[in-house]
Parts: sequence; C-alpha cells; structure tokens
Amino acid sequence: MLELKRIYWSRQALREAYSAVVMWLGASVVLALMPKANAAGSRSAATVAEILRGMVDGVLAAVTVPTLFLVVLTVVAAVVRARDLKRRDPVRRFSRQRRREGLARAGGQCEMESGLRRRCPRPAEHGDHFYPWSKGGSTSLQNFVAACSRCNRAKGAQIPSPGQQERLDRRRRTYVTLEDAAAVGERQPLP
Ligand SMILES: [Zn+2]
Repeated sequence: MLELKRIYWSRQALREAYSAVVMWLGASVVLALMPKANAAGSRSAATVAEILRGMVDGVLAAVTVPTLFLVVLTVVAAVVRARDLKRRDPVRRFSRQRRREGLARAGGQCEMESGLRRRCPRPAEHGDHFYPWSKGGSTSLQNFVAACSRCNRAKGAQIPSPGQQERLDRRRRTYVTLEDAAAVGERQPLP
C-alpha cells in the first residue's frame, strides 16, 4: 500500500513552515519600521534623506535571515514539484475497461467520505485518482476510487490524509472480497 504518512506530513510541514516564514518576514519589516524610543531626540537633527536611509538599512538588516529561510523553502518546494512532474504517469485517463472494473468493485457507489467520515451514499459516476495524477498518482486500479460528481469536484488535486486512506482501506474490505484488491492508492516510481 502507498506509504502516505511521510508524504502527507512532510508536505504539510513544508506548507506550514512557508507561511510561518512569510509571517516572520512581514513582522520583521513592521518592527524595523517602528520608531525607536531612544532615537526620538536625535531625529529632529537628521535630514529626511538620513532618516530614509536609516529606515532602509534597518529593514534590510531585519529581513536578511527570514529571506534566507524563504529562499531555502522555495528551493525545496521547487524540487518537490519537479519530482512530482517526473513521476507523472504518461496515461492520465482510466481506460474504459479499468473504469468499469473500478466502478464494479465499488458496487456503483461513491467511495469518498461525506461528512462524519461516513461513506458517501451517492451513485458513483467518475473514476478518480486516489493519489492525484498531477502529483505522480498511478492510473491503475489500485489508485482508482469511485466518486460521485460532487466528491470528484471537492477532491481536486489534494493529497489525501493517511486517515482517509486508512478508513477507505478498512471500508473497502467490507465490500471487496479479494484482499489485494482492497489496497488503496499507488504512486509512480521515480524514473
Ligand atoms: Zn460522493
């Protein structure tokens, strides 16, 4: 089965680190622009140009470290994206045959979750990639998930959480007889 824990949590961490650094950067600029209490007296003597230069220097000094972090995170994100691109399955659409197999496996019912972590009761109309195709998900029966139009639209290209995978795997075992046919999710290997 696809090992989702590491993939899911590392990307979550990357996203959170990114927004934290952006906030840090913003806060650094604001703090650098705040007038300093002890400089208030001497400022009257300074010219406008000197005050401006002092502000620019202060801001530059304050943003150096967060900018460095931002650059590192941006590079890491670019590497992750490039690897996803390399993994992409050349076949994007499920064949008619595989779609039929996948829908039959699901008994024609949507396999996604609709509120309260219960199985969606609507009839399945689409074959969706459980692990998104755009991020390297395989166009295989193992990565096939039957979905109604609403769930299909709601899912988009998000990487499912390990919890979602675990629950779908458990649920599938109640309506799929062959043990290996219940496995949820597959990702293409790096070429
Ligand atoms: Zn649904």
